[in-house]
Amino acid sequence: MRPLIAGNWKMHGLAAQLHEIETMAASVHARPPAGDVLICLPATLISRAVQTAAGRLAIGGEDCHAEASGPFTGDISAGMLKDAGASSVIVGHSERRQHHGETDAMVAAKAAEAWRCGLSTIICVGESQVQRRDGAALSVVGDQVAGSLPGNLARSGSAAIAYEPLWAIGSGQVPTSDQITEVHRHLRACLLTLAGAAGAGVRILYGGSVTADNASEVLGLPEVGGVLIGGASLLAADFDAVLRCVPERQLVSA
Ligand code: PEP
Repeated sequence: MRPLIAGNWKMHGLAAQLHEIETMAASVHARPPAGDVLICLPATLISRAVQTAAGRLAIGGEDCHAEASGPFTGDISAGMLKDAGASSVIVGHSERRQHHGETDAMVAAKAAEAWRCGLSTIICVGESQVQRRDGAALSVVGDQVAGSLPGNLARSGSAAIAYEPLWAIGSGQVPTSDQITEVHRHLRACLLTLAGAAGAGVRILYGGSVTADNASEVLGLPEVGGVLIGGASLLAADFDAVLRCVPERQLVSA
């Protein structure tokens, strides 16, 4: 399984920053990393970024609505993302769960609609600081993945799961390798229970304060199938430094 290195620009980026996409795309083209590369962008930039990337770099969205169309002012459908040239979409990011009240059921509906439209999904799960302190990290992420993964993975879905502890996002705090490994093994077991053999093919990413300083260690863990990167994906130089940490080996699903 090739690792997936995905960036998430969140609510950052204007046309003036598209040169970062050009630099990333040129670098990926010149020195292809041993993994798949994706940058998820604000919807306003997707179409122009797809043109800029010109097939050298995959471009994704950061969220989509669960419905195909309708009276949902300000929302973006999966079909619209696809139409703009996106190949993937993040759903269930903790910032959506936290600030927009998104539940597991809503995340599952969004993922199902994304799959229907031919988009790959990155479905995010992760525990809070308090939940980890209380020893509930595994049960929290297990419940989230069970509730957020549409039931038809075996038939139609192309999904990755991103384990993103809330306390690690944007904080500079990264879980220990043992903590990441424990959660990823648990998520793999959950995926196998939920989706059978199809669960073995799902990449499980780690996300939360990944930079070039820690990416080699994180990506070197056999259970880690890639990374989801926020802050360090905004500048091509930082993102490229992470890409150079992808180990030259086949990742084996746990
Ligand atoms: C994220 O928001 O998905 C994320 C991982 O952010 P950061 O890398 O900045 O912690």
